[in-house]
Order: sequence, then C-alpha cells, then structure tokens
Amino acid sequence: MTYNKIFIKLSTIIMLIFLIVLIPLGFIMDKIFTNTYIENIKQETEQISKNYADMAHTLNGMSVMMAGPLSEMTNKDILVFNLSGNPMINSSVNHYSISQSDLKQLDNGDSVSHLINLKSLGHYFLSGQPIKSTQGDVIGSILVFSSVEDINGTLDNVRILLLISSIGALFMALGFTYIISKQMSDPLIRMEKATRKIAKGNLSTRVQVSSQDEIGSLASAINDLAFEIEKYRTTRQEFFANVSHELKTPVTYLAGYARVLKEGVYETKREHDQYVEIIENESNRINHLINDLFELSKIEEGRMSLNLEPIDMTEIMENVKQKVQLSAKKKGINIQYDYASNIGFINGDGERLEQIFMNLINNAIRYTEEGFVFVKIYKEFNDIIVSISDTGIGIPEAEISNIFDRFYRVEKSRSRDFGGTGLGLSIVKNLTELHSGTINVSSKEGEGTTVKLSFPMIDGEMNT
Ligand code: ADP
Repeated sequence: MTYNKIFIKLSTIIMLIFLIVLIPLGFIMDKIFTNTYIENIKQETEQISKNYADMAHTLNGMSVMMAGPLSEMTNKDILVFNLSGNPMINSSVNHYSISQSDLKQLDNGDSVSHLINLKSLGHYFLSGQPIKSTQGDVIGSILVFSSVEDINGTLDNVRILLLISSIGALFMALGFTYIISKQMSDPLIRMEKATRKIAKGNLSTRVQVSSQDEIGSLASAINDLAFEIEKYRTTRQEFFANVSHELKTPVTYLAGYARVLKEGVYETKREHDQYVEIIENESNRINHLINDLFELSKIEEGRMSLNLEPIDMTEIMENVKQKVQLSAKKKGINIQYDYASNIGFINGDGERLEQIFMNLINNAIRYTEEGFVFVKIYKEFNDIIVSISDTGIGIPEAEISNIFDRFYRVEKSRSRDFGGTGLGLSIVKNLTELHSGTINVSSKEGEGTTVKLSFPMIDGEMNT
C-alpha cells in the first residue's frame, strides 16, 4: 500500500498548528472566563456587604433579622458579628473558619475582600464590612460569602464546547488537506511516471499541463526536457550517420585506388600519378574531417578556452593574407584588403580569430570560380566589423539559415567537389560567439556571398 506522503506531512503540520494554537488559546480563554466570573462575584458580594453595612447602624433585632432573608434572596451566606466576635445569626459557614486577622481588620473599621477556602464547602469569595453606629464607632461586622464553585461547572461546559468545535475544525481541516494533497500529488505522480518512461528511452512521452502554477511549470519543464533529449538523440543519430557517410566516401576511394595501384591496373605514368594524387587528397580530406570534428567537440563540450588579449584585427588579417595567398593565386582569384584606420582593439584569442578568418576566406575562394574576394575591416558604433565578400556561386536564400548546421552543405555533390567537410561554418559560428561576436551571411545565387562578423570593441583608454 502506498501512502500519500504529502497528506501525511501536511496533516501532521496542521495538527501541530492546531495544538500550538488551541492549547494556549484554551488556557487564555479559561483564564478570562475565570477572572470575569470572579470579578462579577466580587462586585456582587462587595455590594451586598456594603449595602447591609450602610443600612445597619445598630445591632438590634431588626438589623440582625434582615440578614436571614437577605441571605435567602441573594443566595449568599451571611455572617454578622458583634464587636466581641460572636456570630449574631446562623449560617452554613462556620464562624470558626474566619481568620482572626480578618476579624481584627473589621474591628479596626477596615473592609476585607478575598478568596477563601472553606474546606468542606469549597472555594468562596469573602467580602466583609465593619458595621458602624451613627456616631461612626465600629459595633460589629458583616461577612458575605459567595461560592465560586459554580464556575467550574460553567467552565467545564465551555471546555467541552471548545473541545468539540476544535475536533470538528480539525477533521474539517484534515478533509481539506486530503483534497488539496490529492490535487497536488496526482499530477506529481503522473509526472514521476512520465519521467521514468522518458528515462527508459520513451522520449515521445509528454506530461499533461493542467495548471498555471509551479506544478504546471514543472510539467512543462519536463516536456521541454523530453523535447530537448529527443532533439539531442536525433541530432546525435544524424551526426553519427554524417560522420560515417563522410568517412565512407574517402575510405572507399582510398581502398579502390590503392588496389588499382597494387594490381597495376593503369596504363600510363600520368594515370598512376593521378591515382596517387587522389589517394593523397582523400587522406587530407579524412585528416581535415577528423581535425574539424575534434575542434567542434571541444567547443561544444565547453573545453575550448580562449587566451584573451587585446587584439588588432588588421594584424591577424595580415597573417591570414600570407597563408591564403597561394590558394587564391592557384585559382586566379584576387583578394583585396581594405582596413579603416585607428579601429581599436577587441578582446580576443589571436590564434582562434585567425582560424575564423582562414575558414571564411578559404570558403570564399573555394566557392568562387572567377572574380575577386573583398576583405574589409571597419568600425561600426562600438563594434569592429570584419566583412568577407566574394563574387562566387552564392547560396540559395532558403538555405542560408542552415549553413551553420553541422555537415550542412548546399548541394552535397557540389560541395564535395570543392573539398569541404560541412563543419567549417559551424566551427566559425561557435568561435565567434565565444568572442561575444555575431555572424551574418547575405548571399545571392550566382552573384556572391558576404559574411559579416561583428566583435565588441574594448572600451576605455585602449582605443583613445
Ligand atoms: P564546407 O567545409 O563544406 O565549406 P562550411 O560549413 O564551411 O562547409 O559551409 C557550409 C556550406 O555553406 C558549404 O558546403 C557551402 O555549400 C556553403 N557556403 C559556405 N561559404 C560559402 C560561400 N562563400 N559561397 C557559397 N557557398 C558557401
């Protein structure tokens, strides 16, 4: 049997709250009731004793006789003493229970008023007044006793009422807690089941988002996670398919031409040299692919650390210029460089920036049959812009957004002829973003392509 743990936790908390609130509350209410009751009795008892004392100025028969009916009328015990301390009327209260100090105080003309424990009769409130003659001499005293035992019965009733309503409230609170905890735990249980399914590889599993609160956003977070994992799995599958495809073609070439050479299936020396060149080119391609893959995995796993320092872009471009000169010349392409003066510095890694520019200029050369490549470095607001334009074959507009994807090539066969791996722009984009830069491509098929890189300048003294 599985227990609803949320319910158990919530109900324990609620019960604790009830106990914490109700025990002191009950205690306080008990005290308030008792005090009010005793205060009432005190006032009533004092009033009776005062009235009697005010009325009786002699201890003659009439005054003493009045005490009996007064006791019956008010339901109080009354004792009247003369100055010698002898009781003048009968009462259920034994006159010996009165302390000597009280009697003394009364004889001295002072009143007394306090609670008293009359053993077998229980607790009473006692109010005593001296009886004075018209001349103001103390001639005796009156003591009025009010039982406070009744309060216990009244308080017991209040206590029982309080207890019943508390238990009722507690059960109601537990009922609500059960409903609320069920509402909370049901979607959580559904989410748990869905997450376990996802963990087992059932990535199309989705959780129903049934509320707009934290539980609802947890459900949509689980859905997002499942979607991302699904996407990652598809990308990974595509990646492996691409890598094996990319390796398969050159390896087939290598094996085929190596066999041709081994078996001597060629007629002229020229033919032989051609086959050797193919083997060399395909080996280079594999090497290139492996290097690019290694590079990309380093970037994507966040293992690529940049050696950042203030960089003058024109200096980097001058290095690149030396390196790409030969391949441009081979294809008869003229590269023009145009640098704005005093363009300032960026915070960058020289080696990686060189890699970015090499990649882009090599692409420009690779995808341009005739014409020229134009490299421009200039300042735009607080950015340094490097733009590389060519008059090459261009990229269809619909495909521009895809060219940064790994292994994406516009027309697979066309690109293979040009010797690319389809990883270059992906690496370039990642490296640019590591430099807090952005990359934009605009292109027109048959007219040419422009790649625009933008890097934030170092502000402050460096540029002044
Ligand atoms: P590759 O190694 O195949 O060049 P990239 O990632 O560098 O891979 O480029 C992706 C694709 O974008 C290329 O296969 C090519 O089709 C297209 N491309 C890139 N640069 C240019 C360019 N300057 N002109 C035309 N097409 C380009």
